[in-house]
Amino acid sequence: SWQLIFSIILVSALIGTFLALLSTVRKQNRLAKMRKAFVNNMTHELKTPVSTVMAAVESIQRFGAQDDKERMNRYLAVSRQELEHLSNMIERVLQVDVAETNGVQLEKSRFNLNQLIDECTENAKIFAKKKVEIAKSSSGTDFNILADQAHIKNVISNLLDNAIKYAGDEVHIKIDLQEKDKSFILSISDNGIGIPKTYQKGVFDLFFRVPSGDIHNVKGFGLGLAYVKQIVQQHQGTIDLSSEESVGSTFVIELPKEA
Ligand code: ADP
Repeated sequence: SWQLIFSIILVSALIGTFLALLSTVRKQNRLAKMRKAFVNNMTHELKTPVSTVMAAVESIQRFGAQDDKERMNRYLAVSRQELEHLSNMIERVLQVDVAETNGVQLEKSRFNLNQLIDECTENAKIFAKKKVEIAKSSSGTDFNILADQAHIKNVISNLLDNAIKYAGDEVHIKIDLQEKDKSFILSISDNGIGIPKTYQKGVFDLFFRVPSGDIHNVKGFGLGLAYVKQIVQQHQGTIDLSSEESVGSTFVIELPKEA
């Protein structure tokens, strides 16, 4: 009868809603746990550079290292390195915030995307602790874009950092920039460890790290790509990944010229 059919529909709708709620709660719980782990890790990591710099400064003050030029320079160099590390980590904490909430307020200006990429590749090479070769190709006449320069710079740097981090001792990166009618297409390929098919969607999730291989020798918090995706989407752009294990990965970003 109709009554029976109606009851069955009602009950299945209720069960469906209940299951959906349960899955949302589970997801939230998992995120909360990951967030907690992140804060714990980060607090731990933040303490080390602070105490190192503290010790260096104390030594300079207490043991009269001012008179010992060589020693003083050593302490200053260590302090500088640790402060750089600290500043990197602070940048990361800010990235969680961007990735987790509804993003940032973009501050757009006009700039040359091609030049920004060159700046990023120079920096990546300077800070890399391995041999990095970057080959760049581009075609187009005008790489002027209206976008948030600081965040786009972080996007490119994050992708380059990953390309270097998740590769062997000899890193070969290919960068290609193409101009389309209303957008630019930037592709960054590496010869790294690659990302297994099953995880390719997941890598853009906050706190996600591929759980296989020797990845845990590589430091990271699983923030970078969530941040990258958020910023690209806020510019009405898209990001795609293609990757093959032990061969390498390619990230392709399409950004409108006037987002
Ligand atoms: P993090 O590098 O800090 O772990 P990301 O969000 O940048 O965080 O990346 C998420 C995960 O995706 C990484 O932990 C790694 O497993 C994988 N990954 C990202 N980029 C690459 C790459 N170029 N090659 C191989 N794996 C990568």
